[in-house]
Amino acid sequence: MKQIVIDGYHVEVGPAEPYFASTLERRLVLLNQCCEEIAAAIRRHVDDVGSVRVVRDSRDVCSFCGCDWTELSEEYNGGCCDEDCAAEDQRDEVAQ
Ligand SMILES: [Zn+2]
Repeated sequence: MKQIVIDGYHVEVGPAEPYFASTLERRLVLLNQCCEEIAAAIRRHVDDVGSVRVVRDSRDVCSFCGCDWTELSEEYNGGCCDEDCAAEDQRDEVAQ
């Protein structure tokens, strides 16, 4: 049986959501800038900090339709869209 053992602590700090960003690209730029500023401020003003780094969040999505990736396969997302199905059919034809 799996058991959870507490073996340390760390601090997670996140940026305020830039609700005023007009596009996803602008939102990501603003989030990155805010994170870099927070990291710099922590390095400058906070004692007893072992490390500070900005970490990029990511998720897997279908390159055709943008749906979340749900499958173990790196090529086929279970038929999430017509393009995903067509690409799988094409791979099947090549394999035969
Ligand atoms: Zn798709």
